[in-house]
Amino acid sequence: MARPCIGITTAHNAGQDYYYCRNSYIGGVRQAGGVPLLLPPLVDQDELLSCAGRLDALLLSGGGDAHPSLFGEQPHCKLGEFDPVRDDFEIRMLRLMIDLGKPVLGICRGIQVINVALGGSLYQDLVSQQPQSLQHQQGAPRRYPTHSVTVRQGSKLSDILGATRLQVNSLHHQAIKDVAPGLQATAWADDGVIEGVEASGHPWLLGVQWHPEGMWEHDQAAASLFRALVSAAGG
Ligand code: MN
Repeated sequence: MARPCIGITTAHNAGQDYYYCRNSYIGGVRQAGGVPLLLPPLVDQDELLSCAGRLDALLLSGGGDAHPSLFGEQPHCKLGEFDPVRDDFEIRMLRLMIDLGKPVLGICRGIQVINVALGGSLYQDLVSQQPQSLQHQQGAPRRYPTHSVTVRQGSKLSDILGATRLQVNSLHHQAIKDVAPGLQATAWADDGVIEGVEASGHPWLLGVQWHPEGMWEHDQAAASLFRALVSAAGG
């Protein structure tokens, strides 16, 4: 039987000019029954349309910061590395997938890209802009969960995870500020930082602020996110 093809966006190493993504994203899609396909930034609209038409789902992977001009702000002094080419590609690809009604999962940077693409905004640096927040940039390796998350009962996310309370890893210095129209926050850390969103008017558009790709080998909830993406893609 044909297995669903899941496009995974990549990061650019500008110094040495190569594109990359962590093997754990690839493994997460594969263990769930999907075929992982790594995507460099596509530029021409024809390229984007041809790719979106063939993919069964899109995974927006983690990475650097989204540029604040995307939500009408100047760069905060703590803004990290950003890549306007990646921003542009991911936002255009996401919009095409939404138009086609195909599943999209955003992870870490991915949840932020989804929010910005649909008109929301970000804290450019949690530590300086929300100094009362918990530690969201953990010192422990990414396979270890370090803070709790509460998931709204009845949300798609809680159905997938099979829980409304779980422990997640945390490796982000940015977070969602204003939730975009068309999105609903469905998970929060105990300090109120948004850790999950989903779209009400789309068959399957989800974002999580944590890194399930770092945990799926030993965490059922993390593995179930990948399984749900592949299943929504026809697997
Ligand atoms: Mn966090």
